[in-house]
Amino acid sequence: MLIVQKFGGSSVRDAERIRNVARTIAETFLLGHDVVVVLSAQGDTTDDLLEKAAELNPNPSKRELDMLLTTGEQQSVALMAMCLESMDLPVVSLTGWQVGIRTNSAYGFARIRRVATERLRRELDQHRIVLVTGFQGVNKFDDYTTLGRGGSDTTAVALAAALHADRCQIFTDVEGVYTADPRKVPAARKLGEITYDEMLELASMGAQVLMNRSVELAKRYGVELEVLSSLVRAPGTKVKEVAKRMEEMKITGIAKDEKVARITVEKIADKPGSAFKVLNAVAKAGVNVDIIIQSTGRDGTTDMSFVVADTDIDKAHAALSERSEAIGFERVTVDKEIAKVSVVGAGMMSSLEVASLVFEALNDAHINIQMISTSEIKISCVIEQSAADRAVAAIHGKFFEA
Ligand code: ADP
Ligand code: ASP
Ligand code: MG
Repeated sequence: MLIVQKFGGSSVRDAERIRNVARTIAETFLLGHDVVVVLSAQGDTTDDLLEKAAELNPNPSKRELDMLLTTGEQQSVALMAMCLESMDLPVVSLTGWQVGIRTNSAYGFARIRRVATERLRRELDQHRIVLVTGFQGVNKFDDYTTLGRGGSDTTAVALAAALHADRCQIFTDVEGVYTADPRKVPAARKLGEITYDEMLELASMGAQVLMNRSVELAKRYGVELEVLSSLVRAPGTKVKEVAKRMEEMKITGIAKDEKVARITVEKIADKPGSAFKVLNAVAKAGVNVDIIIQSTGRDGTTDMSFVVADTDIDKAHAALSERSEAIGFERVTVDKEIAKVSVVGAGMMSSLEVASLVFEALNDAHINIQMISTSEIKISCVIEQSAADRAVAAIHGKFFEA
């Protein structure tokens, strides 16, 4: 079998953890499998590098930032290779460039376009364990790019798809995907299986256990994922097209995202085309918005609010302020003290019951809902950020601990 194994930053944070992971890799290899391993930067390395950059330049070019960030993963694979060498195992470490992971040019958030397999195949044919840096690729200028935070998951899935791997295992610091973040909600339950669609929603709504793009890619190429612990031997969670549900579960999981802000455009002329102009200005600035609400018009004007990622606040604000006259509104304000709490589960629209249980849980916890959005598979509520953990706990209690 050809197995792709990915280990995240906390799983390789120091020498002891590297040795622990090396034993897992060795075991797989000694069973006779071809093994391709994707590693993240050790522990908080990526954050530390970002801090170092900020000390010298608050606004470094994205190209140079990626040049810096890619070094974290390079350290991990080289150190792991040395550890495996010390165990007399044949191994080679490769960067994204050496493998031929080609991306578009969006530094900091690049998308993988193509993965060359020649070098990987050649190394596997020599019966070597192949270690690959996660989170990075090269663009058409042969410059390094990074794939966005959590991007090593995406590297692993892309390699598994390109190599038609038999298994793709994502090892992390928890035992799988849970009904809520197990570090925040002690009663969270481990899921045996979850569908791509549900996992994609959870990941997009803030469950960082998998990067959402990795799930998107897994779904597109039919790569079945297994999320499991690098520290504890226990069955993990399978992420696949169709999943067995634990009966009696009305929802699959709850996620929280605090890295969002609400932008409100006040006193927009209440006439056809205004909403279009506002959202078009934001979209042209390359900003994605979520949960849009418009108030009932009064005195010929109306207010419109929507949610953006923290990283897009400045872009969205600038795009709107510049056009206040052309669009026709009075003021644009930003509220960063919000969080989005989402419940996810296939086919929940069929039951209004889910929505009312969510609202009841928040009401019981005296948490005010500021915005709501629903889809076939999720309900999101915007609330005050300081209440976010309490909100997740309250909703979890209502659905899973009754
Ligand atoms: P890695 O470094 O292995 O990539 P991450 O920190 O990116 O690990 O992701 C694992 C973390 O995701 C866990 O430690 C956990 O706190 C968090 N998490 C959030 N939501 C969930 C969830 N529903 N199930 C499991 N883990 C979750
Ligand atoms: N090291 C990168 C990050 O911290 C990529 C990853 O961990 O997946 O985001
Ligand atoms: Mg991660």
